[in-house]
Amino acid sequence: MFTTTRSSRGMRHRRPRHSAVPFLAPLLIWAGAAGVLALWWSDTTAVVGPAGWLTGAGRITGLLAGYACAVLLALMARVPLLDHTIGTDRLARWHAFGGRCAISLALAHTLLVIWGYSLTSHTNVVSQTSTLVLHYPDLLKGTAGFLLFLATGVLSARAARRRMSYETWHYLHFATYLAVFLTFGHQLSNGADFVGNRSAQIAWYTLFLGVAALVAWYRFAVPLRRGLRHRLRVTAVHPEAPGVVSVHLTGEHLDELGGEPGQFLRWRFMSRGLWWTANPYSLSAPAHPSHLRITVKSAGGHSAALGRLTPGTRVWAEGPYGGFTANRRSAFKILLLAGGVGITPLRALFETLPGQVTLVYRARRTEDLALRAEIDAIAACRRATVHYVLDEPAAGSAHFTPQGLAALVPDLAAHDVYLCGPPGMTQSAIQALRDAGVPARRIHHESFAF
Ligand SMILES: Cc1cc2nc3c(=O)[nH]c(=O)nc-3n(C[C@H](O)[C@H](O)[C@H](O)COP(=O)(O)OP(=O)(O)OC[C@H]3O[C@@H](n4cnc5c(N)ncnc54)[C@H](O)[C@@H]3O)c2cc1C
Repeated sequence: MFTTTRSSRGMRHRRPRHSAVPFLAPLLIWAGAAGVLALWWSDTTAVVGPAGWLTGAGRITGLLAGYACAVLLALMARVPLLDHTIGTDRLARWHAFGGRCAISLALAHTLLVIWGYSLTSHTNVVSQTSTLVLHYPDLLKGTAGFLLFLATGVLSARAARRRMSYETWHYLHFATYLAVFLTFGHQLSNGADFVGNRSAQIAWYTLFLGVAALVAWYRFAVPLRRGLRHRLRVTAVHPEAPGVVSVHLTGEHLDELGGEPGQFLRWRFMSRGLWWTANPYSLSAPAHPSHLRITVKSAGGHSAALGRLTPGTRVWAEGPYGGFTANRRSAFKILLLAGGVGITPLRALFETLPGQVTLVYRARRTEDLALRAEIDAIAACRRATVHYVLDEPAAGSAHFTPQGLAALVPDLAAHDVYLCGPPGMTQSAIQALRDAGVPARRIHHESFAF
């Protein structure tokens, strides 16, 4: 373990911009769900007999499934306000939870409606299903959309996802746009709450057209416009540590990009074998008006190929994304906790975060400490503390235990903690920090796996 000492004199301490969005967004989502239930309530005079209860429950689950689909798409539309304040990884977790809810609701809706209708018409469920699918308006399309939605959900389940590449899983997800489109018609033409209810129809159209506009704008138009404006190119690739390289890029009008330290972009390198995939990598240095830098550890096909990029390679970058920025900070004292290549966003924050900053950087061996020279230079310049912690037994490393961390960082509980590293290290560090008295709201972590 090596230490450079500190005291962050001269750094200005600004109060962070607290955002109410992470609290208001869930409230708004639940309020929308309550509004959907109110629509059913206002249209229902009485529920009679088992068939009435079944179709009533089918209507409610159907309305909620439709609403959940709109929310799911909005969460993944990459709206900057949501992305920067809530954080991409948290939005992805909400999206995954919402996806499970939407599929369960759609499945329940289908089964309840078939059962309820078959009781009302005194037919068996098989002939009732074929009547519904073949003779009700828009239900053939709706059934195709439902099956597509179900298939995407099954393939996104953790066990199935582990067996396919990230790209296959990602592109399969685009099928949900088609599924939502296919199921939309039957909601309005068959839904008892919409037939003859002009205001409900307008509200439903507004919801779905609004979400479609957000997706079209933020996922397609904005990246295209930025790609054309910034004209990013690779200028150099430098080795930093075994299996780790920095890719330097230049472009036009980069001051307009607005990338904050701690954020990431999705990088599409226009070279053979790489152009069809856009992978996320964090800025490993604060964005400069004429150049950007990422630092990448070889983890698979895409990341390993970046070491072979040649200067001049054209790059399309989407972003910046993520809420792992100075905006999360609430205390004067800040601890940055990095594991391996998790140093990248923290290196950029280390240079720029105001306050009294301590960096703890854990790696396997001394030679794995990427960016070490510049980290030492920043530490000397801002008089900040750096602790390098090695896994090598000979180094006698401190583990991420409450005692180990407290020994490295006095007054630990008074710190805001920014944490980025492999999942195992992140979990043990969060547990150790909580045990050492750091409140959960002060622990900010970035996950490198969505
Ligand atoms: C927000 C964020 C910031 C990141 N920043 C950095 C960084 O600064 N430096 C760095 O070395 N690594 C970073 N990563 C991790 C990096 O994106 C993956 O290691 C890389 O994309 C793996 O791709 P691959 O083809 O080399 O390996 P693969 O073997 O294809 O993938 C390995 C694992 O990486 C994840 N992954 C792959 N592709 C993607 C994708 N397009 N989007 C999200 N996850 C994916 C999956 O969990 C996959 O299981 C970051 C990841 C995220 C989510």
